[in-house]
Parts: sequence; C-alpha cells; structure tokens
Amino acid sequence: MQIPVTSSDRVFVLTGAGISAESGLPTFRAEDGLWAGHRVEDVCTPEAWSRNPALVWNFYSRRRAAAQDAQPNPAHFALAELEAQLGDRFFLCTQNVDDLHERAGSMRLLHMHGELARSRCERECGQSPVEDCTIYASLDEVGHCVCGGRLRPHIVFFGETPLEMDRIQQEIAKATLMLVVGTSGSVYPAANFVHWARRTGARTVYLGPEPPLNASAFTHIVEGKAGEMLPRLFQLS
Ligand code: NAD
Repeated sequence: MQIPVTSSDRVFVLTGAGISAESGLPTFRAEDGLWAGHRVEDVCTPEAWSRNPALVWNFYSRRRAAAQDAQPNPAHFALAELEAQLGDRFFLCTQNVDDLHERAGSMRLLHMHGELARSRCERECGQSPVEDCTIYASLDEVGHCVCGGRLRPHIVFFGETPLEMDRIQQEIAKATLMLVVGTSGSVYPAANFVHWARRTGARTVYLGPEPPLNASAFTHIVEGKAGEMLPRLFQLS
C-alpha cells in the first residue's frame, strides 16, 4: 500500500520503540513484559529513583551504551528524507529516548519522553538539562547541579508529564496526515494522539508488525516492519 501525500498535506509522525527495533534496541514490554530485563517499576518511575538511584543510573547507563553502539535503520532515514521533501510541513514526535532520528538527519523533531544523552537536576531547580553521554560505573561518579541536587537521567519517568505537550497539540491540530510507527498504543498521552488527529479530520496511518491497542482509531493499518515498509510507504505529488 502507498499513502499519497499532496502539496497541501501537513504530516505529523509519532514514533515508538518499534522503529528502533531493527537497529537492535529492545522495545519496551517485549515478550517477557520487561524492558531490557527490568520491571519498569524498578528503573523508570520517580519512586524507583528515590529508592535506588544507583540501579536507575546503572539501567540508563546501559541504555546509553546500547544506543551509542546502534545505527539508524532505513526507517529512520526514510523519515529524514520525507522531511527533506516536505520542509516545515513535516513534524516528528518520538517517544524514543535514543538519538537515531537525529543521526539519520531528522531536524524538526521533539523527544516527548526525554533523551538518553542528557541529564538534569533531580530537584527540578530550573537549570536546563545538560549534554551527558557518560556511562557511569557507580553512583559516586554522577555529578551534581549547582544547587546541590544529584543529576538524574533526562527521561520522563512513568507517572511524570511528557515534555512540550502544548507544542505537540499545536502540531497535531495543523496536521492533515498522521503516521504512527512502532508503538503499542499502551502509553498515554501518546496513545491519544490519533484521536486528537481524527477530531480535525486528518488521515491516520499506523505502521508496525501487529495492530496497536488503539488500532480502531486509525483510518489505515499497514502491517510490516518499519525498516522494510517505510522507505516505500509514501507517494509524493
Ligand atoms: P512498545 O514496546 O510498547 O511497543 C513497541 C511496538 O513496536 C509494538 O507494538 C511492536 O509491534 C512494534 N514493533 C516491533 N518491531 C517493529 C518493527 N520492526 N517495525 C515497526 N514496529 C515494530 O513501545 P512504545 O509504544 O514506544 O512505548 C514504550 C515506551 O518505552 C516509550 O515511551 C519509550 O520512551 C520507551 N522506550 C524507548 C526506546 C528507545 O528509545 N529506543 C526503547 C524501548 C522503550
């Protein structure tokens, strides 16, 4: 199936862990219900951070190492190519915390769940997140903010509010076509974006090997792997 994109279309893309699966990064809730061997409650919640910051940093240090070793796949490159064709009629929102979209060339891009390659103050004291690619061997190595708070991963933990929701809502309101790739439709508010797009009459396309939980909200479901299907999904006119 090919999706026509005309000169009056504005495209909003939402990606999830599935787009990075063919780059070798494990999806969240793989078959064992764990993310890279851990229960989300143990490594990706404010409570986990309060209880055991060493375990949280160990987990995210290993995610950093895996992301640094991974390479963008044809799906990441296809989205960068689509952006090159559409310019500011294209917007990409990712739930992923890896930087494979940037490394493929995407520029109009927002990480709603944060970024592996940054850290920020645990006290939310107002300092901006800092670039940080360090793979920490122990908690003693982790630096502190000027206010004295410990640095934590710049990751939106489960239970925290995603980043830049106002901007996301504005971009969805302008879109005539929404493409959602490789997300199970189980994490909110991202799983609601398709409903917001439908309200303004946009066509909504899902791409992944199996239908997501919110499949009934899409106007088209394209079943397959992102790296195989995305490079030939759109027909520009
Ligand atoms: P999810 O694991 O819940 O869902 C992954 C989806 O990807 C599944 O529906 C699966 O069918 C699909 N999929 C698997 N292989 C695919 C392929 N080759 N092509 C296309 N789709 C494929 O992930 P989610 O919905 O993104 O939610 C999980 C949360 O976990 C996100 O918020 C994200 O922040 C985080 N996470 C991020 C990464 C990353 O940055 N790479 C990795 C794991 C989890």
